[in-house]
Amino acid sequence: MRTADVIVVGLGAVGSAAAYHLAHRGQRVLGLDRFSVPHPHGSTHGDSRIIRKAYFEGAHYLPLLEQAYTLWRDLEAETGEPLMQLHGGLNIGLPGSEVVTGAQHSAESYGLPYERLSAREVTARFPAFELPPDHIAIFEPDAGLLAPEACLRAHLRRAEHHGAALHFGETVLRWETAGQHVRVTTDRSTYEAAALVVCAGGWLADVLPALGVPLTIERQVTAWFRPGMEGLQPAVCPVFIWEYAPGQACYGLPDVGRGLKVGVHHTGEEVAHPDDLARAVEATDSEGVRALVRDLLPTADAPPSDAAMCFYTNTPDQHFLIDRHPSHPQVVFASACSGHGFKASNAVGEALAQMVCDGQPTLDLAAFSLDRFSEGGKHS
Ligand SMILES: Cc1cc2nc3c(=O)[nH]c(=O)nc-3n(C[C@H](O)[C@H](O)[C@H](O)COP(=O)(O)OP(=O)(O)OC[C@H]3O[C@@H](n4cnc5c(N)ncnc54)[C@H](O)[C@@H]3O)c2cc1C
Repeated sequence: MRTADVIVVGLGAVGSAAAYHLAHRGQRVLGLDRFSVPHPHGSTHGDSRIIRKAYFEGAHYLPLLEQAYTLWRDLEAETGEPLMQLHGGLNIGLPGSEVVTGAQHSAESYGLPYERLSAREVTARFPAFELPPDHIAIFEPDAGLLAPEACLRAHLRRAEHHGAALHFGETVLRWETAGQHVRVTTDRSTYEAAALVVCAGGWLADVLPALGVPLTIERQVTAWFRPGMEGLQPAVCPVFIWEYAPGQACYGLPDVGRGLKVGVHHTGEEVAHPDDLARAVEATDSEGVRALVRDLLPTADAPPSDAAMCFYTNTPDQHFLIDRHPSHPQVVFASACSGHGFKASNAVGEALAQMVCDGQPTLDLAAFSLDRFSEGGKHS
């Protein structure tokens, strides 16, 4: 039996940030992950992730996103490592599309700088993009990309610097309350702590089976393209989200070493558990992505130079899930980022640390609470 103040289960995007913020605040942290981190088995691999604030998913994310930007810059300053590159982002679609109207609404609600560009203006500025003449783009200059593996390593290194004990290759099998405390049993040992922070990503339901939210695991294949042309580097190729047909969107990130990265948002096969995923990338997977590139970004078309399988963990409304356990107040959790959670994972980790240390987070996270799925809740 060993003890800590707080045990963090899962040291991916959210858990590594939570471990860092807890340790930074003087908590004795034990962090546990079934794999060595970073790894390609969860939702946080593939070299790059988009960060943006003109959020088509809802203006209520803005306070969390503002804090995320601040915290990524703080982490860069603390480690001396570049983690975030901001060269701008395009939200592309028909003028009435969800991506365009949602991005513009968020930008206006919070007074964010943005430009509304015609198809021709987009091509003049960013030659890789040739939009259909009826499409427009909301250009957000403060959008850009993060290096996910480097962010995880930075959080974990700084957590250890502040005294956290991190165990990799150790799987949490179960937990139970022990008086005011929690007892956690892994495949190696048993530990006790005053609080438990669960950040198990796609495995959330294994660790917290009784939450009652029907989560789905959605397979996502991203592919990289190296057409041998200039114009795909971050300074000249913004990150983008493109609603190419009503309700259907793809996203892309510039070449940071492996090629232009493109993925199709929310069209993957859905399964109940990460173990059920087809892990191998088939030629048909990457050819599907290539067909979109051929159609939308013809100058970037080339046989995919690489491809990777990743997965989203989706809630029914595709918004985050961040809360305290309804029956066990010493347990808090955040997971199910529904395919858009990396950018804010640091602010979510900080909020979890505040919930443990201060009782509640500084930011109002009610929109992400569990009770929206309970009987009588918004999505029940
Ligand atoms: C292809 C793709 C593209 C994406 N693009 C973007 C983007 O551009 N911008 C953006 O903001 N977001 C994006 N996302 C979403 C984002 O990457 C995820 O929301 C985020 O990384 C999820 O982090 P997490 O900490 O919840 O999960 P993970 O990082 O997967 O971490 C969960 C961890 O828990 C561990 N674990 C699970 N169960 C146990 C157990 N029983 N015992 C011990 N350890 C356990 C796992 O090993 C894992 O390390 C994308 C996702 C994918 C798949």
